[in-house]
Amino acid sequence: MSKTPVKKSTKKPAAKPVVAAAAPKVKVATMWLSGCSGCHMSFLDLDERLVDLSKLVEILFSPIVDTKVKDMPYVDVGIVEGCVNNTDQEHELKMLRERCKLLIALGDCAVTGNVPALRNQFTLKDCLIRAYEQAESNKICCIPNDPVVPKLYPKARPLAEVVKVDVSIPGCPPDADTIWFALTELLAGRMPQLNEKNMRYD
Ligand code: SF4
Repeated sequence: MSKTPVKKSTKKPAAKPVVAAAAPKVKVATMWLSGCSGCHMSFLDLDERLVDLSKLVEILFSPIVDTKVKDMPYVDVGIVEGCVNNTDQEHELKMLRERCKLLIALGDCAVTGNVPALRNQFTLKDCLIRAYEQAESNKICCIPNDPVVPKLYPKARPLAEVVKVDVSIPGCPPDADTIWFALTELLAGRMPQLNEKNMRYD
């Protein structure tokens, strides 16, 4: 599958489910790595459309659902917010990639690195010193070195630098209409064709 093309039809997103209710539900996992949770909040902004979505989709693993699972399940679609900053995040992302058929990078942090990647212009050492020794709000003045703390990488990386990404939904965050359009297109068996309207954030 190719990455998200940059054009989309101008017709309004379908307001009703595009897969027959009797069809097996599409299994979904979502995760956020280095992100602010805003992309997941935008997903929740689907509001009443979540009810329609729930007839078609089953979210088995996500920070926004209260399911308790020991291991990350095998799913049809993985949706990831945020970029890769440390060893744990890389491990989680690679595991999801292995266990999903289609991976969606949700939001600019996942697609380009965005805000977390602002640190990439500085050395890792300078970032740690600034955050843990110089920050006015930090009273402890100690760079964490406990082995249980995931190791921070020298650079923040967008998902596509670590794993294969099938669909990219840019935006900071992408708005709910864009997420709805992308998901319903995928559920209909089409690759979402995002257009200029979806790429504007003013
Ligand atoms: S893309 Fe924007 S809203 Fe989404 S996680 Fe990054 S900073 Fe937050």
